[in-house]
Amino acid sequence: MCTQTHNHYLCGCKQKAEFEQCDRLYDLGVNLQCAVAASKAKVMRSYCATHLLKEGKATVVYPIKKRQTGQAGVVPEESAGPEGTEA
Ligand SMILES: [Zn+2]
Ligand SMILES: [Zn+2]
Repeated sequence: MCTQTHNHYLCGCKQKAEFEQCDRLYDLGVNLQCAVAASKAKVMRSYCATHLLKEGKATVVYPIKKRQTGQAGVVPEESAGPEGTEA
């Protein structure tokens, strides 16, 4: 199944990121993607560019609460089952 990745930023914004065609359709060499793509979340460690102010232009600077779990990484999105969710 083809995979659509979304960047999940600390501010709560989600941005569409890279799309990967699966091996099956890639090997066929056709202009198709799966009807339903798997969704992957790439957890970003910071706010997105929209919600980070430019140095020198910001009128208010405040500390940002970092993620408890710290590490950024790629996790499958919408994991339905109780297994695999560490949080
Ligand atoms: Zn596919
Ligand atoms: Zn944002």
